[in-house]
Amino acid sequence: MNLILDFLFPKRCVGCKKLDTYFCQDCISNILQTDLVCPRCEKLAVGGQTHPICKRRYGLDGLWSLGIYQGSLREAIKQLKYGRVRGLTEALVDILIEYWVKYQPFVLDQIKKDQGAGWAIIPIPLHWWRGNDRGFNQSSLIGQILSKKLGLDYCDGLKRIRYTKSQVKLKGQQRKQNIFNAFAISPNIPISKSPNILLIDDVWTTGSTLRECCYILKRHGAKKVWAVTLAR
Ligand SMILES: [Zn+2]
Ligand SMILES: [Zn+2]
Repeated sequence: MNLILDFLFPKRCVGCKKLDTYFCQDCISNILQTDLVCPRCEKLAVGGQTHPICKRRYGLDGLWSLGIYQGSLREAIKQLKYGRVRGLTEALVDILIEYWVKYQPFVLDQIKKDQGAGWAIIPIPLHWWRGNDRGFNQSSLIGQILSKKLGLDYCDGLKRIRYTKSQVKLKGQQRKQNIFNAFAISPNIPISKSPNILLIDDVWTTGSTLRECCYILKRHGAKKVWAVTLAR
């Protein structure tokens, strides 16, 4: 099956369409890595750590994103929504880890220091809205690959319990209301074993989904929760 697909859809760079690569070196170097921001006020923050003054009991402890949602990174993320994406997702996770190690690896250093103990990776559950009706959860695939490469536990620890409208056309406050109480925690989630969590999504837009998921996790005993996204 893969052979036929490879024949019909040869591997091409998502940015410049060059053959035999999912993401060529030129397009990788065009990913815009701007400074990291605090997940609460979205102003510059060293390492993406939440400013001490922005810390909230059930709030995120930090945000790490690979780059800005534009150009080839945006193209890649769009393609993730449509099947046949394992190779591209692996390429993106490799790039993510490479950048992560290179630039302000605060949370990564912390994980290394803990030797991975107490940390787990949890994806944002499937977005139900239009544009992704194939039932494929790209955040889950990103999370699974990342967990293997970092040697961390992976867990589908959250589920959607309520239908939510597409966030795309909603404004900040509406997004927050739309997503409120939309998630629940799975009974098998190992929070006592892994109280520190990397919460994975493909894009940080207003952060309302990631904040809401963090809230649920912390209400159930999570200690540190970082959001990690491909783009913002
Ligand atoms: Zn390219
Ligand atoms: Zn802040």
